[in-house]
Amino acid sequence: MPLFGKPRYSAIKVKKVQIPTGRWMKCTNCREIIDARAFHSAYKTCPKCKFHYKMSARERVDLLLDEGSLDEMDSEMLPQDPLGFVDSKKYTDRHKQGRAKSKLNEAILTGMGSVAERPVGFGAMDFSYIGGSMGSVVGEKVTRLVERCLDQRCVLIIVTASGGARMMESTYSLMQMAKTSGALSRLHKEGLAYIAVLCNPTTGGVTASFASLGDIIIAEPGALIGFAGPRVIEQTIRQELPEGFQRSEFLLEHGMIDMIVPRKELREKLQELVTFFSE
Ligand SMILES: [Zn+2]
Repeated sequence: MPLFGKPRYSAIKVKKVQIPTGRWMKCTNCREIIDARAFHSAYKTCPKCKFHYKMSARERVDLLLDEGSLDEMDSEMLPQDPLGFVDSKKYTDRHKQGRAKSKLNEAILTGMGSVAERPVGFGAMDFSYIGGSMGSVVGEKVTRLVERCLDQRCVLIIVTASGGARMMESTYSLMQMAKTSGALSRLHKEGLAYIAVLCNPTTGGVTASFASLGDIIIAEPGALIGFAGPRVIEQTIRQELPEGFQRSEFLLEHGMIDMIVPRKELREKLQELVTFFSE
């Protein structure tokens, strides 16, 4: 037996704390552990740092429209693959994934519904469908929704969350910017109101078309809203960008949007605006 044997203690056993799944979650913004129930009852915002998480298009319907009022339009309109596009994945496979994630056939849900019992045309983009990008179907659905509002002379609301025009349809996607903007200019000439609600993130060709054409432009707090990303801009202008650049608060200060409305007040704010514009 050696004179100096190894000490006979083992590492202190730490009892693992079992966090029941579904009860707690970690906020990716402030890194605090938060109560999942509090998170959901705060409409997917962090109860500690107030970070607004992404919501699906269907959750937007539940949040903003009068209950059960949605009459969905063009839900069976399916995307084509005009270029036979393949990058790291086939474009057709991306659609399959998008459908599975969002339970939608494209990156936007549109329909007629009501807010404060006034009829509205309503669109909500879903970021989980290929980054909420705009291809031919998204452009066509937005355009048809605008045209329906023209027919029924009602207020239009579109909730955006988008990575921009969809590169897998190339020019076909870019053409949607002109098409949706053209339709909205007719709405404007007819004196009908369009309320745009910009959520995190709203970028690229969607910002450069219908997201920026609202008569009233609302943004959720802390949303990234812009055209090109900050890195591209920095490299182009060779200047460091200011703090909070392209966030809702910065854009409000610089006159690009009209108001920032926290998610829990959004329903009430839309009711107020729709009532005002429907008189
Ligand atoms: Zn947080």
